[in-house]
Amino acid sequence: MPGPMFTYDKEMTDLIFDFCRWRLTINPVPLDFGGIAEDLGEGLDALLNDEGTSAATVLDYYDKQLATAIVSVDSPRFLSFIPAAPTKASLLFDMVVSASSLQGTSWLEAAGAIVAENQVLSLLAERAGLDKTAGGCFVSGGSLGNLSALTTARDNGRRNHPELAGKRLRVAVSEEAHSSVAKALHVIDVDALIVPTIDHRLTLGELEKALAADPEPETVIAVVATGGTTNAGIIDDLEAIGSYCRSQGLWFHVDCAYGGGAMFSSTHGHLLSGLRHVDSFIVDPHKWLYAPFDCAALLYRDPRIAKATFTQNAAYLDVIHDETKEEWNPTDYAMHLTRRARGLAIWFSLCVYGIKAYVDAVDDSIAIAERAAVMIQEAEHLELIRDPSLSIVLFRRVGWSDEQYAAWSTKLLQDQIGFVTPTKWEGETIARFAFLHPETTEAMVAEILATMA
Ligand SMILES: *Cc1c(COP(=O)(O)O)cnc(C)c1O
Repeated sequence: MPGPMFTYDKEMTDLIFDFCRWRLTINPVPLDFGGIAEDLGEGLDALLNDEGTSAATVLDYYDKQLATAIVSVDSPRFLSFIPAAPTKASLLFDMVVSASSLQGTSWLEAAGAIVAENQVLSLLAERAGLDKTAGGCFVSGGSLGNLSALTTARDNGRRNHPELAGKRLRVAVSEEAHSSVAKALHVIDVDALIVPTIDHRLTLGELEKALAADPEPETVIAVVATGGTTNAGIIDDLEAIGSYCRSQGLWFHVDCAYGGGAMFSSTHGHLLSGLRHVDSFIVDPHKWLYAPFDCAALLYRDPRIAKATFTQNAAYLDVIHDETKEEWNPTDYAMHLTRRARGLAIWFSLCVYGIKAYVDAVDDSIAIAERAAVMIQEAEHLELIRDPSLSIVLFRRVGWSDEQYAAWSTKLLQDQIGFVTPTKWEGETIARFAFLHPETTEAMVAEILATMA
């Protein structure tokens, strides 16, 4: 007889479903408090013991003690880092994925999940201007996507350049590249050729200059560009850099973890048109494509190259690689084996709402960034640092010290008015808004700006 762990429990099920129903209903979601809760963790010891604690007690503890100590990334007042705003349909379907124990590791086990995930990947590839042979998989985040793409680039470079055997390989990256790119290069033991930017943007001119000044430019096998920097939303010159890479046989990887959402913008989508040149790129649907955590898309122009890097040759896995069928094993395209079918939540949501709803939502985020910029320009105590890029706005409170920004940010969260952490820009501490929640209103922005007077 199975014990209670495996027996349907109506009471507990109702408890959890009611909780989820309530969490999906609250509007607006409260910000809550993150690391500033005082007696955090008190009472945890009593819950975990040999005999078990009732679900009602544990859930109540989670609700009152833990959930309130997690800042709600999906609050419309969360304007720090990169916020999140998963659609209702995506959240609901994520529950289906959990309740059904869906994994999406291999075609043999999970073809039904994988074809649906691949439908979304094809849509992203098409938006990027790649053709139908492009493909990849969903991974946990942009960091794992960058790592996987750059591992493939390294192996491809080694394969194509036997003359470089014994030499260290390098990848050209902008000084503004996301920290996960440096981390990935560290893991794969490849060096970076750091390329300076012009106004924080990587250009072909600077790349060519850096290569020309380098004593061993032939050891550079790939270039990483960014489609929307996290701090400022700046898009590198993808078109020029991409066509240069193609002509020189350099692997071209674009990190669009945040900015990739702009592929769906009717007004700003063209800024990413250079994606048609990529060998690989990533976009995080858990950022600006309204999917729940954790969901990043990794795409390759020619997925066979990634397969050469990531196919695992374990005897017990041979059965999943049946080359005679049109199979697709997500495990062959990134640094993972077992994986949650994490692409299904966005698949369901895209199908339910339609692509046009995504276009509108992305356009709205850019529009509110532009309106916030106008409000900042009109306020005497504030200065806009640059025109907003995508949905990010950088601005300064005239005369404030680092300490004043920090104290203001802490108080703003304490008062539950907003979560806006300061950032650095050209050595100066400044304020930054990142928009993507469709329910962030101008009134909320005005309320936040007024606290800086
Ligand atoms: C967020 C981000 C990453 C890292 O993605 P994770 O999903 O947090 O691992 C990489 N690059 C850029 C540009 C990002 O904005």
